[in-house]
Amino acid sequence: MSHLTTHLPVEPEFEQAYRELASTLENSTLFDKHPEHRRALEVVTVPERTIQFRVTWENDKGGLEVNRGYRVQFNSSLGPYKGGLRFHPTVNMSILKFLGFEQIFKNALTGLNMGGGKGGADFDPKGKSDNEIRKFCSAFMMELSKHIGADIDVPAGDIGVSGREIGFLFGAYKRQRHLWEGVLTGKGVSWGGSLIRPEATGYGLVYYVQHMIQYATDNQETFKGKRVAISGSGNVAQYAALKVIEFGGTVISLSDSKGSLIVRDEADSITPEEIYLIQQHKVERKYLSELASTDAFRERCSYVPEARPWEHLDKVDVALPCATQNEVSGPEALALIEAGARYIAEGSNMGCTLAAIEHFEASRQNHEKGKSIWYGPGKAANCGGVAVSGLEMAQNSQRLTWTAEEVDNKLKHIMHTCFLTGVETAKSYTVNAEGSLPSLVAGSNIAGFMKVAAAMRDQGDWW
Ligand code: NDP
Repeated sequence: MSHLTTHLPVEPEFEQAYRELASTLENSTLFDKHPEHRRALEVVTVPERTIQFRVTWENDKGGLEVNRGYRVQFNSSLGPYKGGLRFHPTVNMSILKFLGFEQIFKNALTGLNMGGGKGGADFDPKGKSDNEIRKFCSAFMMELSKHIGADIDVPAGDIGVSGREIGFLFGAYKRQRHLWEGVLTGKGVSWGGSLIRPEATGYGLVYYVQHMIQYATDNQETFKGKRVAISGSGNVAQYAALKVIEFGGTVISLSDSKGSLIVRDEADSITPEEIYLIQQHKVERKYLSELASTDAFRERCSYVPEARPWEHLDKVDVALPCATQNEVSGPEALALIEAGARYIAEGSNMGCTLAAIEHFEASRQNHEKGKSIWYGPGKAANCGGVAVSGLEMAQNSQRLTWTAEEVDNKLKHIMHTCFLTGVETAKSYTVNAEGSLPSLVAGSNIAGFMKVAAAMRDQGDWW
């Protein structure tokens, strides 16, 4: 950490993301086999460029509002910078650097040609009218448009940025630059968007976990009959929940920033109809607490205010954090293990704290194959979203639209390859306790890092 901390102001989230990656590289045989890769790690840790700017806009009362806008262009060795925009009051440079850093290696794991970046603003869409959101997006793009382009940097959505915001941002770019190009992904399907992009992160996560379950049980088990706890109730959580149900699992929880909705009867599941209701509710920027007291939910679900679901579950097989970073603490990881969770995979970026990952990884090694706990890191498990963004870029370049089936099949293939890459790289570069499952966090980190480091060396970024 020394080269990091001596040169930088305190950036706790970024330092955490760095520590997670660096510790898995250190604990593997990578640096024994390739000691020169330490220099690559030092170089890749510094963003190629960070942009920070002022956004002023007018609210519905005619008053002046001011926000901070950012874009971190972290690494372009594999392709144009690619990564989402987050609009949330907590956004700052540390959070965007952690997200951009993760994005570099995640994008490498998709096998597509995309560099890593991330951006956003400390703007809170909650409580804002559509008119205010449109004005903010236009003002934000006024500066961002100078730094992005279809072959330079292609942002997408993230927390607080969904189809509506992408539409406003795209329109602003087109008017300001007098240019129609695939500068953003997550666009509307009738104007350059890809089918399956909204579903891709959640679906991809479930495809990935299905491979974890099949591998760990020698193809004896699938999602069928499994109790699946999900946090969040936004884009990623909604589509993960729908795919779990389609695969025969039950969804026993969802949550938002104000509390958790948990089914009372352990054999029961939140239904697809209820998920569509929640989806509509979230478009209106409302909270689950308002739905919890309605007839649809009151009888079958309990609502736990100001809490995440993990410590409120009696029995669980799979846990999918899908809300935000650091949403599974060390004690919550232990509670999940105690409740029987065997598979934990992040839909959210850096969903688990370092302490939680340590508990999961220790439990992976302490058990025999078939009984151990297996952790799937976000940079692998949630790469389906950016993968389909990459496919949207490919369709835009070709001026073609692929069918939903074509895109879904490509997504399935990418998730499978990403899973196998993690497994095989872990087997080659880490020492495992006899019979235990390979570390997906180590395997994915090493594979993503090696691919980026090799491209950077070819391009003269380190030597
Ligand atoms: P959304 O904005 O659609 O949903 C976010 C969800 O998380 C909401 O339920 C929100 O609650 C909850 N949430 C946000 N902040 C907090 C917080 N501080 N504490 C508790 N709950 C919180 O975002 P997405 O579903 O798109 O993103 C979720 C996660 O997945 C993020 O970590 C994102 O980086 C990651 N991700 C997203 C991808 C995508 O394609 N969208 C791709 C890869 C990763 P509320 O409604 O109350 O605000």
